[in-house]
Amino acid sequence: MPPAGAASSPRLVWDVSELGESLLTALFPHLAGLRVHRVEDIVHTVVISASCRAGGASCPRCGQESARVHGGYSRVIADGAAGGRPVLIVLQVRRFRCGNPGCTAVTFAEQAAGLSERYRRRSVPLLGMLAGFGLELAGRAAARLAGTLGIAVHPATVLRLIAAAGEPEVAAAPEVLGVDDFALAKGQVYGTVLVDMRTGDVIDLLPDREAASFEAWLTAHPGATVICRDRAGNYAEGARAGAPDAIQVADRWHLWHNLAEYAGKTVAAHRGCLKDQPGGDAPGPADTLEQEPPGQAEGVQVPPDGFLDACGRERRLVARTRERYAEIRGRLDAGESLSGISRATGLDRKTVQRFARAGSAEELLGKATSRE
Ligand SMILES: [Zn+2]
Repeated sequence: MPPAGAASSPRLVWDVSELGESLLTALFPHLAGLRVHRVEDIVHTVVISASCRAGGASCPRCGQESARVHGGYSRVIADGAAGGRPVLIVLQVRRFRCGNPGCTAVTFAEQAAGLSERYRRRSVPLLGMLAGFGLELAGRAAARLAGTLGIAVHPATVLRLIAAAGEPEVAAAPEVLGVDDFALAKGQVYGTVLVDMRTGDVIDLLPDREAASFEAWLTAHPGATVICRDRAGNYAEGARAGAPDAIQVADRWHLWHNLAEYAGKTVAAHRGCLKDQPGGDAPGPADTLEQEPPGQAEGVQVPPDGFLDACGRERRLVARTRERYAEIRGRLDAGESLSGISRATGLDRKTVQRFARAGSAEELLGKATSRE
């Protein structure tokens, strides 16, 4: 397979008859329907000149076969890279005259099956590959990966390909259905994700986390016998109405997550109590790590109310509660509604209500820090 061009030339041309059609088809199986005339290496780009093998083509509008050639032109289609080099297919396309007198298409251009599509400047296999990258990695990472393989593509193009692929149809709910919320904009907008708990596959997304949306989905997709959910009320209500026979279970992740969170908070709140225990005044790891200035650390008595941490500083919860209380009071005094404050602060409406009802920040803190 000696290159016909001189070694110093940037343009190398291979004689395809010498290359052997079977080898070419083995390397580029999607070109099997084409007659390849020439393969060139032009400045590190593989350029394949080809035309369709078929004698005629069927009209895309009426489906009638035609072999009456009206004219032709060449189009360039980008294909998957070969050995890290971009591949371009220069395809000689014939325009046929449609023989059906009742057809509105007078002439039509042929398409290479499995390779070209109308208006597309990339080959069908390349489009499929880019959409696959996009589904795994989303736009920007997919475009970067394609770049390392010698395929130039814009992230927005990858996203358009994913959108064009459409969503897989969900006929029925899986036997064990998982439901949870996810943030589209943290603290502001939430959606719902539905998961097949046996396979771990995401099967559908809902635009909000309302009970009614979940209920409507369950009604349209029957079949769930177990519904795995978080501890919030909305999904419980939706599941009761949409799949009354299904067993509802709290999923293990949420149980462990909530337990760990509360165990951490409780231990931190009662850390002061450890000092009263026999041997409790030996410095723990946190005490030795926190290098307090001597004057400040000495003489600090940790009160048992849990407002201060073990180093005598105001706990984060305390500072945050005071800040929130002041902000919500200020907004209420300015005449804002509970819902308006909830939107502005990103806090749940029930939380805002709790703050609005409390007489002071200390009242709220009393409840939060004096739990057994
Ligand atoms: Zn036609």
